[in-house]
This record gives sequence, structure tokens and C-alpha cells, in this order.
Amino acid sequence: MKKYDPFENVQTVMEQAAILGKIDRRMFEIIKNPQRETKVYLPVEMDDGSIRVFEGYRVQHSNIRGPFKGGIRYHQNCDLNEIKALATWMSLKCAVANIPYGGAKGGIQVDPSTLSKRELCRLTRRYTYAIEPLIGADKDIPAPDVNTNAQTMAWVLDTYSMLHGKPCPGVVTGKPVELGGSRGRASATGRGVVIATQLVLKTNGVDSLDGVKVAVQGMGNVGANAARIFCHRNACVVALSDVSGGIYCESGLDADAVSAFLEEGHLLKDYQAEGVSHISNTELLTCDCDVLVPAALENQINAEVAEQLRCRYIVEGANGPTTVEADAILEQRGITLIPDIFANSGGVIVSYFEWVQNIQELTWERSQVNEMLEKLMTASFGELLEERKKTACSYRMAAYIVALRRLLYAEDIKGLFP
Ligand code: GLU
Repeated sequence: MKKYDPFENVQTVMEQAAILGKIDRRMFEIIKNPQRETKVYLPVEMDDGSIRVFEGYRVQHSNIRGPFKGGIRYHQNCDLNEIKALATWMSLKCAVANIPYGGAKGGIQVDPSTLSKRELCRLTRRYTYAIEPLIGADKDIPAPDVNTNAQTMAWVLDTYSMLHGKPCPGVVTGKPVELGGSRGRASATGRGVVIATQLVLKTNGVDSLDGVKVAVQGMGNVGANAARIFCHRNACVVALSDVSGGIYCESGLDADAVSAFLEEGHLLKDYQAEGVSHISNTELLTCDCDVLVPAALENQINAEVAEQLRCRYIVEGANGPTTVEADAILEQRGITLIPDIFANSGGVIVSYFEWVQNIQELTWERSQVNEMLEKLMTASFGELLEERKKTACSYRMAAYIVALRRLLYAEDIKGLFP
């Protein structure tokens, strides 16, 4: 089997959408590749006195519609190609949500579970120093992603502010509320996944989540919050997983209890409760459920898995969890997929609210944040439905066509420099 390449994946999907949506080729060529790719080498003194040099990246895909925007991920398999794909998805995501940002992504090739907190702090500060010339509240605004969180953003913010001799809260989003973060940001991506699910179910005549069977792959920030909010809204969360494996309970898991268990530093393989059995990652993906939420990494639903799925809907909490080959099989099998660039846009939408609050030196109530999030996602879902009516296509194609049109309109009307 050919090796999966995330950047090739996103480029292929863009090509498909450009053809289907009759997108202007001349302008399309411009956004096929990122505007800038940066690779940095980061020497860090480890706790035992030794020195390790880590590789870091920041890829800035597009700033036509506004400053570059996108998270920073820490992962042992992270490489430039993956970050290029993730940066491209950010441009498309911000265009679908119609918020005034372009797209970027950063990352460091590191397994953060092998580093102490002090080592992680030094690595994050050195990375921030290395990319400092690229970032800024009106240039490029990082945020959390896989294995990074509000603490990581606090270190980025402090390092950047020290270098600039003043507090610069708008340089990152997803920071602690005490440092200018937004209420509701930490749970926003998961909340958005639930909103996306409710919107698609409603379109298919299902008005409530009562008893809807959900399986969630991944218990990071996105998966854990989505699972908890699904439970609070009376869905039946039948399966959950983390890096160590999955758990299953036909009558429904208590996602709050599972989250609390994981937050104490345990792994899911050690979770015990009445009626709960342990399953493999493949068993989770292919379990009998209504809604499958892949909320881990790329390349989880490939052609082989797609053939075995028993869900009716896939709502992509992760970026790029489904391959191009799998997409075709899902369409054939009549499984409805809500694509990442819409389904997980709740995070960057609330990042936008955070940035707006920072610039205006205001703080919003949590209820206002959640209400605005729902409003924006509902509006952009309406646009996907319109596009589907016009083009008779999948939600993925509709989202890409809407995004490409917006990006290329902006490109066209401003013209080329010089
Ligand atoms: N890392 C998140 C994503 O992939 C959020 C990015 C942001 O808030 O800038 O969408």
C-alpha cells in the first residue's frame, strides 16, 4: 500500500473540489502551496545536564483573508509535510467559518510524555524565540493543538512578551483565562463537534441527541470535551479510546468519570467500571453506533476501515482523519461525513473571539461565547447545505468549494504583488 501523505491528501481534495466547483485555475495555483515554510533547530538543556536538539516548524499557508492562524503540535511523528497539510486545512477552515484569518500551523518533533515539565517549558520558550520574527497579534497567532494546552500558550505568551518588553496577549489564543484567555475556549472544539452533529442530524429529521449512539476516538482536548458534552445532552456514548486502547459499554459510558480518571494521569487500559469492556482501536472505529467521532490524528479511516464501518455519520473532530480513498467508499456506502474544516472549526472560532476580546480589552461571558459559536457554526452549515443543493456533492466537497471560492475571491480582488 502507498504511504499516506497528508499534504498530498489535502491537495488531492482541493483539486477535486476545484473541478467540481469550477474554480478559476489561475488563482487556484497560488494557494496549492504554502506562502512560507520555516524549520528551526532547538537546542535544549535536559534536566540531567545533557543537550538535545529538537526540530521545529512553522508553516504559513495563507494570509490573504487575515493574519495567519493555527495551532502548535508536539508529537514524535510530526514533520514538515504534516505541518504543511495542517496549515492548509487552517486556511480552508477559517474561510469556511468566514472569520478574518488565513492559515498556519507549527509543531515540534518530540514525544512530550518523555520530557519533564521544566524541559517542556525550556523547549517551548526556545521554539517561541526561534519563530518570534514570524508571529504577532496582527501577523500570525498560534494556539494549542495535539499535546499542547493553555500552559504551553502561557509560556509562548510570556517569552514573546519578554522579547517585546510589554504584555502581548493577542499573540496567542487558547491561553489561560487569567492571562487574557477566553471563557469557553478550552471546550470550544468539542462543543463545536457536538453542534455540527446536531446540525446534520436535524437536517435528517432527528431533532434531539436523546439515545443517539456515539463513539469517540481520542480523549485529548477535542475528544474528551465532545464526549462530555454529548453525555450532558443525553446522547449514549458507547465507546471511547486513548493511546492505550478503547473501552465500550452498550448502555453508555460516563464521559465525565472517564475524563476525571484520565486527568489523574491514568490510561484508559486501566479503567474499570460495571458493564465496561476493553476494545482495540479498530474495534472502536468499526463498532455499531450512529455517530463516529475520530478525534485523534490523521489517517485513521483508510479504505480498509471504511469498508468495515458500522456508523451512519462521521463527524471529524481531528484534522484529516479520513483518506481520499476512504471518502469515496463512504459515499458509495451512504455514510454521511461532516468534514474537519467545518466539524472542528469551533476551536478556531472561539480563538477568534478570544483575539477580538484581547484587541478590544474586553471579556465576554461564557454564555455569550457559546451562543456566538453556535450562531457562526449554524450560519456556515447553512452555506454548506446551499452549496450541496447547487452542486449535488458531499459535505466535504461543499466545504472545500465554499472555502476555495472565498480564498480565491480575496486573491483575485486584491491582485498580485508586485
Ligand atoms: N489547533 C486547532 C485547530 O486545528 C485550533 C487552532 C486555533 O485556534 O488557532 O483548528
